[in-house]
Amino acid sequence: MVNAQQRIEKIYEEVKNRNPGETEFHQAVWEVIETLTPVLEKRPYYAEQKIIERICEPERQIIFRVPWQDDKGEVHINRGFRVGFNSALGPYKGGLRFHPSVLLGTIKFLAFEQTFKNALTGLPIGSGKGGSDFNPKGKSDNEIMRFCQSFMTELYRHIGEMTDVPAGDIGVGAREIGFLFGQYKRITNRYESGVLTGKNPTWGGALVRKEATGYGVVYFAEEMLKVRNKSLDGKTCVVSGSGNVAIYAIEKLQQLGAKVVACSDSSGVIYDERGIDLETLKAVKEVQRARIQAYTDQHKDAEYREKGNIWDIPCELAFPCATQNELDEQAAQTLIENGCIAVAEGANMPSTPEAVDCFLKNHIAYGPGKAANAGGVATSALEMQQNASRDAWSFEHTESRLRQIMTNIHKDCYDTAREFDMEGNYVAGANIASFRHVADAMLAFGVI
Ligand code: GLU
Repeated sequence: MVNAQQRIEKIYEEVKNRNPGETEFHQAVWEVIETLTPVLEKRPYYAEQKIIERICEPERQIIFRVPWQDDKGEVHINRGFRVGFNSALGPYKGGLRFHPSVLLGTIKFLAFEQTFKNALTGLPIGSGKGGSDFNPKGKSDNEIMRFCQSFMTELYRHIGEMTDVPAGDIGVGAREIGFLFGQYKRITNRYESGVLTGKNPTWGGALVRKEATGYGVVYFAEEMLKVRNKSLDGKTCVVSGSGNVAIYAIEKLQQLGAKVVACSDSSGVIYDERGIDLETLKAVKEVQRARIQAYTDQHKDAEYREKGNIWDIPCELAFPCATQNELDEQAAQTLIENGCIAVAEGANMPSTPEAVDCFLKNHIAYGPGKAANAGGVATSALEMQQNASRDAWSFEHTESRLRQIMTNIHKDCYDTAREFDMEGNYVAGANIASFRHVADAMLAFGVI
């Protein structure tokens, strides 16, 4: 008889063998299943029904060619992906990532994470992810449009408001969602608002969707601090990245009285001791679509550190909001030595497993991405609700729903960790709570 631990190790070996070379996917799987031993021990039926084995195998994986022409008429070929990972709780739901680093394994790791994240929201959404190795950097609006049209010309047959609902991620925002929706509408002859989320609020998008991931991660941090009788007020923060998630995390932190002294992009770090000026940052990133170095054109006393490591900057609260594996063990050590008390992840899997261990061993309040950044996809589900009822909610109403969802997610993770004698361990809490939610739905459907 194999025990629960041995069973989980065996499943992990099989995942590695079946998905060779997909190291980020292996990492994401291991980080979840290594925390599930106590659940299998408590409820062996999950093991008998091979629920973990089933959860680790995507329901479907689509790979397609995306040909497009640049402004000079030259033809380019990219690769498109859409992985439907789990539909036990609802239609596949998750973003599209356009970035040159995208491989099938990247999309699989993101879709796998999405399974647990989406379950934590308590809303009826399954999990998926997609994207392309297309690099939007430096492309004209027309090139972006032609790429999106070509991408959707294949994708449209696989998605639908009851089947699979893509949204944005790195490299995909309201502009791209607009081009994608326009092409979907044209091909299908249907104004099917609920087929994509992250739409512009002028034509069916939810207010607060743009801000939601960033705001949500700050609400999650606030809840973690409350447990420790602390608040955000007056805290010095560092937020990595400068995309959608980072910008709106900074906005909410500032609204709640915290001071954000640094942000970054893949070229370097901005350190502004007096606090990041959000208006300038938005102008640089959202209007000019420029590199953050341009921030110093307006703020001469701010420092630009080319290729600098943002985690070297002392802070009390850290918000990794850039990309996967951006924060390693060394960075985690430095943060702790500099007095950091809490880390909340706006990006997906930004901390390496060694960094996570380091946070947990040092009793840092550590909110893993699948819990802390669930506000984005939760607000996408609220967008789907509005589309289904042909309604449009106010900013205040939507934001209060988001806040309540983040409070509930925090409580679910906290209470579950306590139930398993791991109080304060949000990694175990998030994984176990979401696993049970998905697993129970899967069991109800039989062997499918
Ligand atoms: N890409 C986001 C995430 O990582 C949002 C997905 C969505 O809104 O569907 O959760």
